[in-house]
Amino acid sequence: MVGGGSSKKENVNPKAVIHQRFGDKARYNIEEVQDNSSNGLPGLAIPQKGPCLYRCNLELPEFSVVSDVCKKKKDAMQSAAEKALEKLTDPPVEDASDQLVSRLSYLFSNEFYSICHPLSGHFRAALQREGSLNGFIPISVMTIFDSKLYNLCKRIKPETESKPLEVMSIIMDAATRLPEPVLVSREFMSLKRTSPYPPEVLESVDVCCDQETHVKAIRIPYLVEKDVEPLTLDVSANKYYMDAIARELGAADASMVLLSRCIGKSSSETRLYSHDPNLHQLDKGDFENGSYINTRATYLSGQDVYGDAILVTIGYLWKSCDLFFEDVSPRTYYRLLMSKVPTGIYKLSREAILAAELPPKFGTRSNWRGLYPREILCMFCRQHRLPEPVFSLIVTKDAPEETSKCEVKILSKGQDLILHYYPQESFKKQTDAIQNASSRIISWLNNYLKKLNVPGSLTPYRNELDLDFYPEHISKELNLFSLVHKNLLETNGTKQSNSVDTKFSYNIEGLDTEVFASSGCLVCVSYSVSLVNEGEKEVIEKNDEFEFELGSEAVIPEFEVVVAQMGVGQSARFKAELTSQELIFAANGDPARVLLLLSSGGCSLEYSITLLRVTEPLEDRMEKALFSPSLSKQRVNYAVQHIKESSATFLVDFGCGSGSLLDSLLDYPTSLEKIIGVDISVKALARAAKTLHSKLSNSANPVKTSGLKSALLLDGSITTFDSRLYDCDIGTCLEVIEHMPEEQATIFGNVVLSLFCPKLLIVSTPNYEYNVILQKSTTQTQEEDEDKNPNKPCKFRNFDHKFEWTREQFQVWAVDLAKKHNYSVGFSGVGGAEGVEPGFASQIAVFKRGFELPEGGDLAAVPDDVVWDWGGN
Ligand code: SAH
Ligand code: MG
Repeated sequence: MVGGGSSKKENVNPKAVIHQRFGDKARYNIEEVQDNSSNGLPGLAIPQKGPCLYRCNLELPEFSVVSDVCKKKKDAMQSAAEKALEKLTDPPVEDASDQLVSRLSYLFSNEFYSICHPLSGHFRAALQREGSLNGFIPISVMTIFDSKLYNLCKRIKPETESKPLEVMSIIMDAATRLPEPVLVSREFMSLKRTSPYPPEVLESVDVCCDQETHVKAIRIPYLVEKDVEPLTLDVSANKYYMDAIARELGAADASMVLLSRCIGKSSSETRLYSHDPNLHQLDKGDFENGSYINTRATYLSGQDVYGDAILVTIGYLWKSCDLFFEDVSPRTYYRLLMSKVPTGIYKLSREAILAAELPPKFGTRSNWRGLYPREILCMFCRQHRLPEPVFSLIVTKDAPEETSKCEVKILSKGQDLILHYYPQESFKKQTDAIQNASSRIISWLNNYLKKLNVPGSLTPYRNELDLDFYPEHISKELNLFSLVHKNLLETNGTKQSNSVDTKFSYNIEGLDTEVFASSGCLVCVSYSVSLVNEGEKEVIEKNDEFEFELGSEAVIPEFEVVVAQMGVGQSARFKAELTSQELIFAANGDPARVLLLLSSGGCSLEYSITLLRVTEPLEDRMEKALFSPSLSKQRVNYAVQHIKESSATFLVDFGCGSGSLLDSLLDYPTSLEKIIGVDISVKALARAAKTLHSKLSNSANPVKTSGLKSALLLDGSITTFDSRLYDCDIGTCLEVIEHMPEEQATIFGNVVLSLFCPKLLIVSTPNYEYNVILQKSTTQTQEEDEDKNPNKPCKFRNFDHKFEWTREQFQVWAVDLAKKHNYSVGFSGVGGAEGVEPGFASQIAVFKRGFELPEGGDLAAVPDDVVWDWGGN
């Protein structure tokens, strides 16, 4: 809101007044907001974290209001109550007319001339206008830059909201009632003070300096076939900028120019200026003419814009009397467009339009980069002039812990339901529930809007698992979405299908440092994206340090595939198909150069990436930092001990991941002759194949001289049978079961003990009770913003964990299985010591087969795919 000033609040307590009138019917809902005070204008750097702020939504029987953003919950509630009171006590219309006249007379006063106000600059500049227009202020300008004036007009005639011309005629009528005469020009739709300002007033502000000033702007033609184009406005001293704009628009003078509200950030003074071809027919009262509608400008501003429009950042501010301006380029326009695509906000907040994607799931706060999903959803609503989304938490206090779901409603301005999300999944943490709900909605919106190709064809969408959509209540602006974004979404759409193009190829350069990233790792890369065409090359996006979580789909699929194959210090290069022009322009600053390249045809995008750093997931870092040797090393040693004791020759590692156990087994001779690793992650298997292969090809490897004959990696689930895994001497399943849903863990137990029948099976999983110790030593540094309450349930060690069991839960699971399948079971662990509370960090169950297998008991079943085979089987 412009206006404000320093009107001192009276000493009343708005909340108390509301309570008196409405009692329990007044419902306050407080929500946390991220401080994004420097957001809004796409393209600005957006801070990752700010102090926690609050916004309050006050629901009263007749209407609801949203408070300002405050530092304290208390203040947010008061602010909401204050706004509700304002709404309840709007003055009657007669008073409003009188107030309008007195406001106008203040604006034409000596006093107003010399203060800093977005409008007073126009009064001063008007005196520099030449000829008959000297001293005249366009009424359109007055309605825009004095919100008090505008609000009074709205009160007099509420339906004027979207009709600027009507507001203007109300002001013109009021001007005739001014005590001190003002010239009213109906022809120019302008007002001018009759008596000259006294010299001391004129001298009090020193307006001009004789500088040449040129401001870059862009033209958005109303004909959609025409591209937006850059232009330069000459606003050198002594020239009224509104006249310069009028000239560009082909309008007779400034009064023929209409101004939009601010676009993007509200304090930016970036507006659309247009010349409605029907404006001069004001008196005929017929201004509706669809043929001149400027779709792009209308969509951008959320107001009807007719004729060609100019987007420019210029105006007077509260803080200085000088004219403020900034250059606007086609890039600004395309970035504004992008910020209205649900995931566009994410790409912009990461400054990675051609690389980033919004991950479909919210993992941990510490690994999330870019704006949080909830903030993105709120911004999407703000951008489309919808009220803030309503988040309701449903907390279930089921033993052993409470869980939360977050329901979300998006309403129209008239409080009709547009979208209703009712989740199935519960979360341990409330923030996770909220963030996941938000990201689900954003992804849904993105996909939904992408599918629209016929303008105005928003179709109802009900009961898609967890979401209802009622497009009949949606604003006109959102309806224009598909029309304006057609191009942008189409190309983006084919990319998002998640499958990587088969033609896609890449090459990796540099020394293989053996430091890789696996799923869940935080990787840091530098990259650049260039537009290339037969030797010609233009860098259009560049990031020196770009972090994302591998495996979370936070970047385009090709990007992720390539980084997963790289070692730290290596560089890679790949070509990708051209994305839409809009994306390219949004990323790039030099439209002329890009246009030249694009118009020559046959362009493609070239990505060039260098892997700078890899940070392992929190769990792995913890296991290394807090245990010596690391916890994973201790698990491996535990398995090796059993191999030695049993002189095993055949080992199967269930859920081998990237092969940490198999890899260690190749470091020293053992009795093993055959080893098999099974996993469902192809990426992890590829990683395992790479390291195992290099170890086995190394002729100095001691394993060469031992009896190892074959090593095999299989791609498949450990819950289904594969005859090759039958009757091994040792089965290991280290830190795997907690990655599957609990029922699956039991299915695995049944399958492995009844069908694979290993002589010995070693299963390890985190001991949940031990988390207190782990988290005490890491919360301070890892996730400062999390709750510090010691009685709160602990977090899981890894966001991919579906459960973490206490010692009792694990033992019940293992003992039941053993009984059922004629195995014996014993318990142990690594990290911590026997008998010391709260037990081992990793708990281990060792199952021993209590029966002999029949000869040749080979069962047929669908075999898993062989990923890598060494030695032959
Ligand atoms: N055992 C390895 C990896 C542990 S991470 C180690 O100790 O380092 C857990 C692994 O379980 C992941 O690689 C994951 O892909 C795998 N996994 C999860 N569910 C699986 C399933 N149903 N079948 C096979 N592997 C599975
Ligand atoms: Mg795990």
